[in-house]
Amino acid sequence: MAAPFTIARLEAVAAPYPMRSAFTSAKRRSTVAENVLVTATLADGTVGYGEASAAEYVTGESEASVLGSVAAAAESVVGGDARHHREWTERLRLALPHAATARAAVEMALLDALTRELGIGLWHWFGGATTEVRTDLTIPIVAPTDAAATAREAAGRGFRSLKVKVGGPDPDADLERVLAIAGAAPAALLRLDANQAFTARAALAFTRDLLARGVRIELLEQPVPREDLEGLAAVTRMSPVPVFADEAVVNPGDAVQLVRRDAAHGINIKVAKAGLAGALEIIAIARASGLKLMLGCMLESLLGIGAALHLACGTGAFDYLDLDAHMLIGLEPTGRPFSQEGDRLRPDPEAVGIGWEPEG
Ligand code: MN
Repeated sequence: MAAPFTIARLEAVAAPYPMRSAFTSAKRRSTVAENVLVTATLADGTVGYGEASAAEYVTGESEASVLGSVAAAAESVVGGDARHHREWTERLRLALPHAATARAAVEMALLDALTRELGIGLWHWFGGATTEVRTDLTIPIVAPTDAAATAREAAGRGFRSLKVKVGGPDPDADLERVLAIAGAAPAALLRLDANQAFTARAALAFTRDLLARGVRIELLEQPVPREDLEGLAAVTRMSPVPVFADEAVVNPGDAVQLVRRDAAHGINIKVAKAGLAGALEIIAIARASGLKLMLGCMLESLLGIGAALHLACGTGAFDYLDLDAHMLIGLEPTGRPFSQEGDRLRPDPEAVGIGWEPEG
């Protein structure tokens, strides 16, 4: 009989989630989160789950490519030992060098299976730093009245920070929307996310204009195109608010380039970009370099958000959390894999693994 930790099977199926309402940013408009569910089965029947939510403009992946990538990954990890994390992570890197989100979902499933077999929560495996974090809620590019209504409701639920998508086709509409949000939730701190849509000059002018109008800006995320590190560095040098890189940092190597160029005050890590092992490497780079850290998400369901929450609570490494995709989809956490009260997220303290189970 094979040892219990032997990886017996790795499988993937499409697991789409219709969005509560269309999600529009400067780079995408989504009505369905086209996610993929990855299942890792150990030799004794223990099952772990992972989720991929591909954003083509960030990693070049799609639902179809993820399904193919997981099949390729299976060939390189099945038969291995789930406890040998460093070994199978390296195998995955070699098997899927250009499929960051698929690789992340496989890691998620294998670590879920491993920690279930060990009988501990994934957040314990990551270090058990804290039991709870506070997230923001993202307001996409919508009409100002809709944005204001969402902001008012979120502030009423106790959200301290709101992420606001900017960089839409009409600069006046951007301004109007941010002012409507600030008016509806005057105590909230706003995280502006341009998704690469500005020039350095426009980003600075927009930020200064809002500050002059009394808007409380917590940070400015990815104002310029990802390849324009020079522009990002220019915004960082002159910005009156902290500047964060998102699309510019997919993997640890990108984080090193960012540090070398002094191109941002912080990095928005996402499991779908770096994976879980890659996220740990970026955390180390950022800490050693004095950079702030945010943990963001794509359009994951409770499974993917749960895994990110385990990373956040286990490491305690993040200054800002943007783990809100479940709310954008319209999913209510009910204790497993995590609970939510206002903007506070808490993984089930008794769960083993991530704590997620498929319905039915
Ligand atoms: Mn972003």
